[in-house]
Amino acid sequence: MMEKASPERLLSTLRILTQDIGIRLSGSANDARATDFLYSEFKKVSPHVRFHEFPVRERLVHSEALEIHIDGEWRKYPSSLFSSVPGTDAKWLEAPLVFFSSMTDYQRPDLSYLRGKAVVHLGCHIPNRESYRRLMEAEPAFLLFVDTRHPGDVPLADGMFPAYTDALGARPVTNVAFADAFSWKLRHADAARFYADAERPHKTSRNVICDLPGSDPDGDIIYLTSHHDTQAGTVGADDNGSGTTIILEIARLMASRPRKRTLRFIAFGAEEQLSVGSACYAREFREEIAKRGRLVLNYDGGGAALGWTNISGCGPKAMFDLIHAEWKKQDSYCNVFDEVSPYLDLFPFVMCGVPGVWIYRPCCTDGCVWHHRFDDDLRHISGDELAIHVNASVSLLDNLANAEVFPFGKDISDVQKEEANTLWTNLYGGW
Ligand SMILES: [Zn+2]
Repeated sequence: MMEKASPERLLSTLRILTQDIGIRLSGSANDARATDFLYSEFKKVSPHVRFHEFPVRERLVHSEALEIHIDGEWRKYPSSLFSSVPGTDAKWLEAPLVFFSSMTDYQRPDLSYLRGKAVVHLGCHIPNRESYRRLMEAEPAFLLFVDTRHPGDVPLADGMFPAYTDALGARPVTNVAFADAFSWKLRHADAARFYADAERPHKTSRNVICDLPGSDPDGDIIYLTSHHDTQAGTVGADDNGSGTTIILEIARLMASRPRKRTLRFIAFGAEEQLSVGSACYAREFREEIAKRGRLVLNYDGGGAALGWTNISGCGPKAMFDLIHAEWKKQDSYCNVFDEVSPYLDLFPFVMCGVPGVWIYRPCCTDGCVWHHRFDDDLRHISGDELAIHVNASVSLLDNLANAEVFPFGKDISDVQKEEANTLWTNLYGGW
């Protein structure tokens, strides 16, 4: 009889990450505490545990404040400084307010009207490097970003892509609540002032790697991945304590089972700054990943008590069918998407030519309502849902780690490879 995942053990691991340790910003003291904890937990499972270190810039905000000028009065609003951008050198910056709908306004041939302005930027990502370059050239005073995926009445946390800011510079950027931005527009707000006493110290973060070696030590590797870091102001129970807890539990259950292929568990750091830890790992071990990597199972946001499960990634149809079949055995029917996404630790592996999937549970069409929010804590998480992912994965790995011939190839379509290449150059700055 196969040992099953324990929902109680999954939740107690998650409690340590989210309640005992808490917010886990990359490069912070809590980042180190979390990786020490994961190291010691993996060590109980396998002697083959190590850190892979990489450089990061920590988001260190001492204080920030935002005021908006409405009807002749300055009013205070909450905000959350992006990672990978500067503060205001602990000085107040004041500027006229301009509203910019990023979904359409980058079509404007001339962005010089943003110069010296406080720009309310509707949309929290700039998925195009050329647009970011033009925005920086326009030299806005500062930017107030609005998340349109999860509109609400509190500011979410987010970051600018380091590959953008390293290459093209940065302005102060802070996140504001959608409902606040909406009211500024309705009430004809005409100016903003912003203060951020913040630093970006050079720090080190760590990927935690645990091997369960196969009987064929130079043979295939199956990667099981997650990220242990969080955004600012959130303990990240779902994003991504859940995935980290899942891979740890899979490792516990797989440790005593026979296997021909190596299972490599990696809890990556700095995913929230755009997969900095996994990109660094892929750059360093590109050859090994390309040669020995067979599959990546990436878990990121898998604990929603009410929601549904999606399996999204790149690879042959047989891969998707086989994976989905295991979830169905657990009575969990999934949506399956064959697509390239750059916003995941899976992506650098796809760049190395390894197929893989991201397994996650949204609860609304754009993800989860608590995404990057203060309340991404244990109250939304179901231990039973975490256990389903673990049990399906263990059953899948029993097959894949031991199959005489691996049951599917590494084909990723040329169209997807080209798409991935463009995104890799654009968002990550290439190899
Ligand atoms: Zn995540």
